[in-house]
Amino acid sequence: MTQAPRPAGTPNENPRRLDHFYGGQWRKPKAGQYIDVIDPSSGRVFSSCARGDAADIAAAVQSGQEGFHAWRALQPVERARKMARLSALIEARSEELARMESLDTGKPLKVALGDVLTCARYFEFFSGVADKLHGEVIPATNEHFMYSVREPYGVTGHIIPWNGPITQAGRGAAPALCAGNSAILKPAEQTPATTLELALMAMEAGFPAGVLNVITGYGPEAGRALVDHPDVRRISFTGSVQTGRAVLHQAADRIIPATVELGGKSPFIVFEDADISRAAQLARKAFVFNSGQICSAGTRLLVQRNVVDKFTKQLVEELRKVSIGAGIEDKDIGPVISCEQLNRVREYVDIGNREGAILAFGGGRPDLAPQGGYFIQPTLFTQVNNQMRIAREEIFGPVGVIIPFDTEEEAVAIANDSEYGLASAIWTSDIARAHRCANGLQAGQVYINDYQPIGVEAPFGGYKNSGYGREKGLAALHDYTQLKTVITYHG
Ligand code: ADP
Repeated sequence: MTQAPRPAGTPNENPRRLDHFYGGQWRKPKAGQYIDVIDPSSGRVFSSCARGDAADIAAAVQSGQEGFHAWRALQPVERARKMARLSALIEARSEELARMESLDTGKPLKVALGDVLTCARYFEFFSGVADKLHGEVIPATNEHFMYSVREPYGVTGHIIPWNGPITQAGRGAAPALCAGNSAILKPAEQTPATTLELALMAMEAGFPAGVLNVITGYGPEAGRALVDHPDVRRISFTGSVQTGRAVLHQAADRIIPATVELGGKSPFIVFEDADISRAAQLARKAFVFNSGQICSAGTRLLVQRNVVDKFTKQLVEELRKVSIGAGIEDKDIGPVISCEQLNRVREYVDIGNREGAILAFGGGRPDLAPQGGYFIQPTLFTQVNNQMRIAREEIFGPVGVIIPFDTEEEAVAIANDSEYGLASAIWTSDIARAHRCANGLQAGQVYINDYQPIGVEAPFGGYKNSGYGREKGLAALHDYTQLKTVITYHG
């Protein structure tokens, strides 16, 4: 196995100062500047990362071009084996990576470990397809032979948010590399560490230099420069609607394709014939997991009126059991990512109170939370209507709202009355109703009597303002290829 070169001044010698990683090497930022990285569990600066700019992006894309040619020169089965080896390396180092991820994001260790193992699964899943990506022979005239092949784009750019850094790095990079592209990853400035480790491990797994590269830095500097670079041929972006829209404008100017996975306000519909106690347990998971910082969080709880009291009582009991602490303490949930995010969530709690919703649980700082960290209790509002801002706007914190409904038609209409359409759930024991509703819901994923049960295999992406293109599963793979048709005259 090739060992990555570890030059002087790398994170391995000074783990508190993270440089870029591209072309198989750690590289200092050309402007020499670094950004503080804060531990959200304590509010303290514990590390820094390179503040990338257009000059760093240009150098990384140059490496990405070289990596692309070296990667394409390999047999598909060799690419598949290297991806499988990377998956195994991630798994072997999963505990160490989980500690790193937990410190950067504040998420509990067990959640971070789940994220790391999901990243390993992405490379495992796509390693199984790298040598099975073929085109078709297309019927033509008797004088023509026609076939199609799927080709990579070249250098792809991936802009990653802070809520699941290592899973989302794997989610973008694995299908892109599987299809024969090289990748430049731009992690969020708050959470750079594990994405850099991924690039380092790719070298250890025997990837050619320049196949997997990471530039850290701020979005409007490094992220923007990545989308603007003339040799970046495809973009994936996960983040807010506002930034996604800006990225799409840039991509349109350059006429390059982009997959955008944006926000959500996902409905979780509970009918009177549902298993209410399981629905309440999974509702807690739907909007409290990862402190609510998931684009597909099920935050709008649409509950049939005659079971609202029963469901609310059971859900409040579930919320009472949620333990909260620093990521490293490995409780049920950790802090939110930043002071800014905490203030945003608190502002929405105030908005809900002002709008006349009833605060049934939480809304404040947990009693025993570590000092200085950005903690907020799981929060539940009842007697909400779908026109309130707390029902329409993405909060990105552990805040759920209960909206009563009377009929199935009304439930589907309320669920679809949203600018978003990422995920949705239906809770009922009537299978016909479950599939009628699944048919009517405008969302990229529909769960029946569960919430987000499946991982890397299931295509994932938005309807409406939740974005377009699909991540995960084989659907993601086709997004990273372009189709070429070859037509031969042999008459
Ligand atoms: P949030 O506001 O929750 O941080 P963003 O959508 O702004 O969400 O950020 C998601 C990712 O997009 C991060 O990696 C961030 O650095 C990056 N980003 C932010 N602004 C831009 C931009 N103008 N162009 C490209 N990337 C950006």
